[in-house]
Amino acid sequence: MLTHLECTRCGERYTADRPQSVCTKDGGILYARYDLEVIKREFSSAHLTGRAPTMWRYDAILPAADPVSLGEGFTPMLPSREFPNVFIKDEGLNPTGSFKARGLSACVTMARHFGMKKLAIPSAGNAAGALAAYAAAASLEAHIFMPKDVPAANRIECDYYGAHVTLVDGLISDCAKKVAELKDSEVWEKDGWFDVSTTKEPYRVEGKKTMGYEVAEQLGWRLPQAIIYPTGGGVGLLGMWKAFEEMEALGWTGPERPKMIVVQSAGCAPVVKAWEEGKSSVEMWTNAATLAAGLRVPKPYGDYLILDILKKSNGTAVAATDEEILEATRHWAKTEGIFAAPEGAACLVAYRKLLANGFFKPEDTVVLFNTGSGLKYQDVLDVHVVRAPSPALPPQSAKPAARHIGGIIGPY
Ligand SMILES: [Zn+2]
Repeated sequence: MLTHLECTRCGERYTADRPQSVCTKDGGILYARYDLEVIKREFSSAHLTGRAPTMWRYDAILPAADPVSLGEGFTPMLPSREFPNVFIKDEGLNPTGSFKARGLSACVTMARHFGMKKLAIPSAGNAAGALAAYAAAASLEAHIFMPKDVPAANRIECDYYGAHVTLVDGLISDCAKKVAELKDSEVWEKDGWFDVSTTKEPYRVEGKKTMGYEVAEQLGWRLPQAIIYPTGGGVGLLGMWKAFEEMEALGWTGPERPKMIVVQSAGCAPVVKAWEEGKSSVEMWTNAATLAAGLRVPKPYGDYLILDILKKSNGTAVAATDEEILEATRHWAKTEGIFAAPEGAACLVAYRKLLANGFFKPEDTVVLFNTGSGLKYQDVLDVHVVRAPSPALPPQSAKPAARHIGGIIGPY
């Protein structure tokens, strides 16, 4: 039911019959558009009953191609043990341990569908691991450009998945320049290269939008009052907003919208700064530094859409310091049993701040997105592990005495 692609800046239409990047007129992000009227007639939310618990259960509103799937999506929506009306959407249970699985499953599906061979991505870490895994599953080449100081897990998994890895001395924006150089070279088209960069192709958003469908389905086709989302590139935020529009058109939900709330690290908070200054685009953040690697995005390409969504949804943007994020990571682990990625734990910091300043009331239903597993940040988090002294061993006399009688070895 995919009919065409549409520029989010100027509305220009593009065919969805071949690979596309961004709008050739203004560089705007292209969105996949469907014939929602026909889907509405032929498929209702009731048809989802009994379908496989992956994001491909929503294939009626995804491009029609043979999915490259590792079982991504339909992650748990866990009621918080601390706050009665808070839910934690635990994306750490996805293949490759992060929400990036969704976008890359959709994107690699389409790349294979179009016969592309070599997939290039600049990544802050988790998207690299996800591309490497899905490319392996699709027998395609993954070419990964990531900062040399990404969490060790991201480097290691890419190597095991057989990806071609280039470690870059810089940030994701420097990695993006490497991909852009490659794109200008003459081998790009000849060798079947495809740019998988965040929002530089239309299908990662399609994968990420399934988070919006799941939030609605798991809450009984009601949307929460607010969603807090750790925002680097912001694809999930874009995707979920798109999902809410589609679901309304399909009659699955009403015109209500959650307040969309961006949380960023104080060490790299370009969206928070632009929001506070009332701007409609983001300035490049200089000297970005935070332990939440996924939030080290100095200038998201979809900035104009992120800020527009904050405005339309009556949302807001909050910064969390690394100290606050670390404390929240530990607190969530201890109180919820969820070992979250630092990016995810940043949502707890934002929730507490917005509850304290009256933005939220305790009765508001709020969904916090844990975007990944803390297990992928072992080297980052190990530095902060509390090394307690070993507990004292019980005195020797507490053990049963060994008995050696007449050369028989006792069972003790
Ligand atoms: Zn355009």
